Amino acid sequence: MPSRPIPTQFDNRNVVELRGPKATLNEMEPYEFLVEKELLSDSQTGDSITVFLTNRECGFKCVMCDLWKNTLDESVNRGSIPFQIRQVLEKSTAAKQIKLYNSGSFFDSKSIPAEDHAEIASLCDPFENVVVENHPKLVDERVLGFRDRLKGKLEVAMGLETANEAVLARLNKQMTADDFKRAAGFLRECDIAVRTFVLLNPPFMSSGEDGIEWAIKSIEFAVKAGSGCVAVIPTRAGNGAMEVIEKEGLYTKPEIRSIERVMDAVLPIEEVRVFSDLWEMRKFAKCEACADQRISRLERMNFTQMPSEKIGCGECGGE
Ligand code: SF4
Ligand SMILES: [Zn+2]
Repeated sequence: MPSRPIPTQFDNRNVVELRGPKATLNEMEPYEFLVEKELLSDSQTGDSITVFLTNRECGFKCVMCDLWKNTLDESVNRGSIPFQIRQVLEKSTAAKQIKLYNSGSFFDSKSIPAEDHAEIASLCDPFENVVVENHPKLVDERVLGFRDRLKGKLEVAMGLETANEAVLARLNKQMTADDFKRAAGFLRECDIAVRTFVLLNPPFMSSGEDGIEWAIKSIEFAVKAGSGCVAVIPTRAGNGAMEVIEKEGLYTKPEIRSIERVMDAVLPIEEVRVFSDLWEMRKFAKCEACADQRISRLERMNFTQMPSEKIGCGECGGE
């Protein structure tokens, strides 16, 4: 049977059609949590808890997103989200920061019931910094009520993905770089910190070199818009749509050496912490001989925000 042609523009319908099954989840349990060290905004390294909340799937359907795999089709009942958070706080150690990541937008009341905000905020009392994620289009006055309930500082994490307008328009993210800029400006005016997710090699980027150049430009764009922290995420396949795009040669899997190049270029920018997302980083290493050293190098750079000596490798010849 001939394969179907790649859609010229991905939309919610064809992104969903290409998907595999979701995980089976229970709304009374977060689907994961972790405690890790992070360089915090006070320049100290401290513990940070991330709670991956089980909730209704994000209303946007971005081409490269695989977060839907751990979401529900229906909204959760009032009280389930605080219940999930409480379970993690009973198990985990004290930390300075908590991230409440819901695979979508915290301020979308279909995902996180707005009636739960007060209880969620009081559960966050022990933390100096509270990070939630949200789509830039859903950043408005509703953020302020939650900010006011917190004892600690609020930080909103948003996906810019890329500042390349043509590529961004094809991601079905349904926003422009200007939408991101407006949202970041609003948050900064309201004394809310901004964290940004930038993709290395999003789909539809013409080459790996372009991927590096645009990751750097996108970080610079985010900083100019007021972001104090940027996480660089190597784009992964594995969600259905990305496989179709990869087959058409419109996605290049990033290499760990490209991530190093991005970090080398942006660490001199003083007003921002830039982290490389190290989750499953081994998958992006082409050479076994230097993979561990390169991952350690990225880890060092995450914690010090300083350039680190480059890795030479006799196997791959990589600097
Ligand atoms: S807005 Fe974020 S969570 Fe929602 S589909 Fe896009 S990338 Fe995924
Ligand atoms: Zn090597």
